[in-house]
Amino acid sequence: MDSAPRDGSDIEQLIAERAFRFPSRHFLSVAKLTRPDADALLNLADAFVGLNRRPEKKISTLRGHTLVNLFFEASTRTQSSFELAGKRLGADTVNMSPRTSSMTKGETLIDTAMTLNAMKPDILIVRHSASGAADLLAQKVSCSVVNAGDGGHEHPTQALLDALTLRRAFGDVAGLTVAICGDVLHSRVARSNVGLLQLLGAHVRLVGPPTLMPSGAADWGVEVFHDMKAGLRDVDVVMMLRLQLERMDGAFVPSTREYFRYWGLDAEKLAYARPGVKVMHPGPMNRGVEIDSGVADDPAVSLIQDQVEMGVAARMAVLASLAARLDNGPAAGGV
Ligand code: ASP
Repeated sequence: MDSAPRDGSDIEQLIAERAFRFPSRHFLSVAKLTRPDADALLNLADAFVGLNRRPEKKISTLRGHTLVNLFFEASTRTQSSFELAGKRLGADTVNMSPRTSSMTKGETLIDTAMTLNAMKPDILIVRHSASGAADLLAQKVSCSVVNAGDGGHEHPTQALLDALTLRRAFGDVAGLTVAICGDVLHSRVARSNVGLLQLLGAHVRLVGPPTLMPSGAADWGVEVFHDMKAGLRDVDVVMMLRLQLERMDGAFVPSTREYFRYWGLDAEKLAYARPGVKVMHPGPMNRGVEIDSGVADDPAVSLIQDQVEMGVAARMAVLASLAARLDNGPAAGGV
């Protein structure tokens, strides 16, 4: 599964062998992925890890195509990894941010998208604070749309990079017990991960205070825990979530100090998990709020830097497989 030992043109051969045509024009949610689609994306992403580790990282899969990053919400990892992914695949890549666009002059989301659409991009990467924004844009534009996070709804490429990280760390996602912990209520990362991890055969637990747990969570096919130590008992993976203060109107937790005491991941709580446990966090981290630095920075348990590396490879797999539809001509249309 690890493509690292392969070198030079071998890696390009591997990428060609694993070329995959995305099942739909857009990637908005993990909900429509089938198991074979998810496996094919992960296999392709794994090959891109090898490419990203060589000195010469650029190939021409997306040559001639234009990629537009349209980020209405702040982002470090996601925006830069889509930009790198596009560039390494040979695309022309443009970053748009609302502060520098006409959105500040009162142009609506749809107007902005239609203006961009008229410039004929091939792939539009969208992040927006409103759930459903990427879906709405996908109905209005003629290019492919990738959801890079829409409000508290979904963040499908985060789930894909998390699955890739786990697959490389454990060999397989199937059979792992993964505890997703903290502010589940406001987390698009949790929603996308629940769907994809279950598709790949993992057992998923949601762990957090009742005030930060969606009311219907028990119907998602997961186990719900309101006690951190019980929730972490015998798990293989602990996926911590950021306390999403920007999405809270009102007090969901008494104080961040109190929150850390009960829900912050430290060595003492982590000791309830299985030996060999791995810790993940999508970033940005609030150290001392949901996670202790001693855990986050411990190379024996933390997969956090691996997640960042896998983000570029996973996004390359998404872009390359969407482009495979473009390159197949008009028959590749549809949603
Ligand atoms: N970066 C992730 C997201 O955009 C997680 C977070 O912000 O907490 O959802």
